[in-house]
Amino acid sequence: MKRPVLLLLSLCLAFSCDSYKKYSDKYMVFFSCDISQSPFNQLTTPGRFLSVRKTEGKLHITDTDDKKYDQSLSAVQNGSFIMGLSGLIIGTPLFNDEASSIWAYDLACPECDNPSTRLKFDQEDAQFIVSCTKCGGKWLPNSSGTPINPEGKEMRPLYRYPTSLNNGILTVSN
Ligand SMILES: [Zn+2]
Repeated sequence: MKRPVLLLLSLCLAFSCDSYKKYSDKYMVFFSCDISQSPFNQLTTPGRFLSVRKTEGKLHITDTDDKKYDQSLSAVQNGSFIMGLSGLIIGTPLFNDEASSIWAYDLACPECDNPSTRLKFDQEDAQFIVSCTKCGGKWLPNSSGTPINPEGKEMRPLYRYPTSLNNGILTVSN
């Protein structure tokens, strides 16, 4: 029971801190996918996350098992998708008290705030985390994108984007 209590506590701390907006509008985002299709069918499973990046004409997707998927984009998708600062982290958090179950974060480290500084999927104490190899920052996608903050340093949560789900199509847009 110790870990859920701790996570609940960090969740409360995250929500009591009002210095950051719930959704970031610092970087534009527009992305959509069909959650009945692999690998996006993982997105409704609590605790599963995908990192999604776009290069010219293609999506590069990695899941929490480090399995990689490359998908070709249509001309319309290629022209309309805007992937925030450096891509997206999408998934259903394990600890979630909101009606919208699928969350989206920016794949960029919010501390380094640079398109080339992408977070990587990692494990710590049997928990799924994302970490930055440049600044050493670590965050919990399952708990509102809250930073893990061992030295008591002030760190911001992950950039979060609004999501909506309509007829099996997930849209991330701000
Ligand atoms: Zn960083």
